[in-house]
Amino acid sequence: MLRKKLEILFLTIILLALSILGYNYYRSYSFKHNPLPNSYLKRIAAKEQDVLAHMQKNFGFQVQFPIIITDKIPGRLYGLSSYENGRITILLNKKVMQESMNYMIDSVIPHEYAHALLFYLHKNSSEKAGHSKLWRHTCQKFGGKDCRQYVDQQEIILSKLPFKVK
Ligand SMILES: [Zn+2]
Repeated sequence: MLRKKLEILFLTIILLALSILGYNYYRSYSFKHNPLPNSYLKRIAAKEQDVLAHMQKNFGFQVQFPIIITDKIPGRLYGLSSYENGRITILLNKKVMQESMNYMIDSVIPHEYAHALLFYLHKNSSEKAGHSKLWRHTCQKFGGKDCRQYVDQQEIILSKLPFKVK
């Protein structure tokens, strides 16, 4: 009798574990294969407005750069800034958003916006000079929570992007 009860208990636990596993798999599959949910888009747009307000306050003007959300960025890079033929673009990596959305909002957007503004002001002429003191101050003025360089990451691109965005 006790054995039977234990069997039922174990079976229930296994079924529960499997359904949690299945649910998590479904969630990440669905995130990957669908456009970015509206709640994410709203947070990104709100943060951009916040960065622009900081720009107005600290620099006395506002310039908005296109933000492209893509899953084509290779590896686990959070985002990157590109400057190609005078066109400045910020790219954010959709692949890491589900697990790192807070970091994306608090740190990555101000980080990349600081690169973009320095491109715009022609104060960033080489990929190596990307994380200068001026860049760090700009990132901080944009309200960036973590204004450090990403370790060993190539996230400033001054030539044609080495991958297709769409
Ligand atoms: Zn950077």
